[in-house]
Amino acid sequence: MLRCDFCGLETDYVLRVAIDKDYDRLTVRHEKRYACRPCSEKKDRERRERIKVETAKK
Ligand SMILES: [Zn+2]
Repeated sequence: MLRCDFCGLETDYVLRVAIDKDYDRLTVRHEKRYACRPCSEKKDRERRERIKVETAKK
C-alpha cells in the first residue's frame, strides 16, 4: 500500500508526480511525489491551467 502525498489516502494506485521546478516552493526539495488518481488529475489540471496562463502572458 502506498500513500498519496497530497491527500494522505492509502491506495494501490499511485502515480509519481514530477513537480515543476518552481511549481510549489514549499515542496521544491521533493521533485517526485506520489499522487492517487484524483490528486494526479487535479495536479494535471493545475499544470495545464498554469501553462495556459504563462502562454497567455507571452
Ligand atoms: Zn490523493
